[in-house]
Amino acid sequence: MADTIFSKILRGEIPCHKVYEDDLVLAFLDIGPLSEGHTLVIPKAEKATLAELDDESAAAIGRVLPRLCRALVEVTGVKEYNVLQNNGAGAHQAVFHVHFHIIPKPDRDQGLGIKWPARSLDGDEGKALAEKVRAALGD
Ligand code: 5GP
Repeated sequence: MADTIFSKILRGEIPCHKVYEDDLVLAFLDIGPLSEGHTLVIPKAEKATLAELDDESAAAIGRVLPRLCRALVEVTGVKEYNVLQNNGAGAHQAVFHVHFHIIPKPDRDQGLGIKWPARSLDGDEGKALAEKVRAALGD
């Protein structure tokens, strides 16, 4: 995978406001926050998208995410928040190193804005699609 700005942060070549670190994970404040407390949680493994990430790194991120959310709620006093994870330029990924955003949502104007163009799921199509995904998972 090509070097990213997060590789440089991991190597200590550029600074960050670190909030958490363990053997597999680093979390730091986003340089362009959508709201106070906007935090990025990244694996130390250099993978571009979540689908490429190994189970151990994924588990390490999953283990710490709730703790980070609790700490951010406590520190900001904001109880509502979004966890966002973008994969691919078309899905708004700008830095091609896996990262989870934790974004406090203090009010309508701050934090993450979401467009949610929901359609309805057809029963037969849903059944066929779920079968295909189960097969792809090998279950
Ligand atoms: P993406 O759109 O890829 O999901 O989000 C990338 C995030 O990385 C953006 O929210 C952006 O503000 C943040 N970011 C980009 N460069 C830096 C940096 O050098 N330091 C920090 N702390 N955050 C960065």
